[in-house]
Formats: sequence, structure tokens, C-alpha cells
Amino acid sequence: MIAVVTGMPGVGKTTVLNKALEKLNTYEIVNFGDEMLKVAIKKNLVRNRDEIRKLDTELQREIQKLAAKSIAEKGKEKNIIVDTHCSIKTPRGYLPGLPIWVLEELKPEVIVIIDTDAEEIASRRAEDETRDRDVEKIEEIREQQNVNIAMAAAYAVLTGATVAFVENRRGEVEKAAEKLAALLR
Ligand code: ATP
Ligand code: AMP
Ligand code: MG
Repeated sequence: MIAVVTGMPGVGKTTVLNKALEKLNTYEIVNFGDEMLKVAIKKNLVRNRDEIRKLDTELQREIQKLAAKSIAEKGKEKNIIVDTHCSIKTPRGYLPGLPIWVLEELKPEVIVIIDTDAEEIASRRAEDETRDRDVEKIEEIREQQNVNIAMAAAYAVLTGATVAFVENRRGEVEKAAEKLAALLR
């Protein structure tokens, strides 16, 4: 079984997922960005994960396809939760995180959107010094939140996957992890 967990950059997907995994022993987390980074570094295209979304979009699609194939291979043996994005903000517009060829590889059964207020996302990004995060206006963050819901609806229609929302409020990672774990149990 493959579940897909998505959300705005900096909303806390990786943090919530790691906490939820303590409650779910039948799953392995695979970070889509990690798989893309392995390929992109091997090809000498980037130095860190935050440079991937700035690459030429055709190149991003190519790397995305390779990452999806390697994740699907892992999913044959075990239950996998994929840590990824409904959309990626590139200089040429929003790139779908799960275009048809990725959906055909992953065949997700559940698509989760982790979300919170745009203001809160902006402050988490500003406080996170481990990453080279985009600084965006609140309206820009809201725009991508809306795009993500539209994309998730399309992915659900194409695959039959269910779509669920998990709120990750400030200081409430545990609560979000519990809700996520309950969805995937
Ligand atoms: P990306 O998509 O870019 O990988 P992400 O969604 O995985 O981002 P994280 O790296 O998990 O986001 O979290 C971003 C920052 O927000 C981190 O500094 C993390 O500690 C913090 N954070 C996550 N959840 C919460 C929360 N509920 N309250 C306060 N801070 C949080
Ligand atoms: P993350 O650590 O989740 O931010 O992932 C690092 C980077 O990988 C993102 O900023 C994107 O550039 C890329 N990425 C992750 N998931 C996808 C996806 N499904 N499709 C295309 N690019 C992705
Ligand atoms: Mg992450």
C-alpha cells in the first residue's frame, strides 16, 4: 500500500511523519525529494535539495520520473508513506508533484494534505535555518494552498485515492501525528 503525504514547504510534513511513524510500525517513509536529490547529485546538477525546484522544468520532470520508478520498486515489498508535494513552485509556474506518469507508478490509496495558516507557514520557514527556504508573501502562500487542493482533487479522480486533511497547529505536532497515524492504520 502506498500513501502520499503532501503539504506546503515548511508546513511540517517531515516532522509530523517522523512522529507518526512511532505509532505505525508497518510503514516505511520515503521522501520523494531524497530520491530526486540522489539522482540530481549523481548528475552533478545541484548541491542541495532546495536547488531542485529551480532546475529547468523538463529536467525536473525527468528526475521526478526516475524517483517515482525507484519508489514504486520499494513499494512492491512493503507499505510506504511518500513524503512529497501536490505542487512544486518553479520559476515557470506550479509543477504537479504527481502527474499521471507518477500516479501510474505509485498508485496511491490515500492522499493526505498537511496544512495550517499561511502566516504560520511563513514563520516556520523564517525560523528554519536548516534549509534554503523561499520567502513569500502571505497571498503567495495562500495561492499555492489553493493550487494544492485542486491538484489533490485531480489526483483522486484519476486514481480513486481518498483525500484527507491534517491540521498541524503550532506546538501540536503530537496531535497532527496522531490524526495522521489514525488515517493510515
Ligand atoms: P519541506 O516540504 O520543505 O520538506 P516540511 O513540510 O517537511 O518542509 P519540516 O521540515 O518538517 O517541514 O518543518 C519545517 C519547520 O517547522 C521545522 O523547523 C519544524 O521544526 C517546524 N515545525 C513543524 N511542525 C511544527 C509545529 N506544529 N509547530 C511549530 N513548529 C513546527
Ligand atoms: P522536500 O524536502 O520535500 O522539500 O523535497 C525537496 C525538493 O524535491 C522539493 O523542493 C522539490 O524540488 C522536489 N520534489 C519533492 N517531491 C517532488 C515531486 N513529487 N515532484 C517534483 N519534485 C519534487
Ligand atoms: Mg520535508
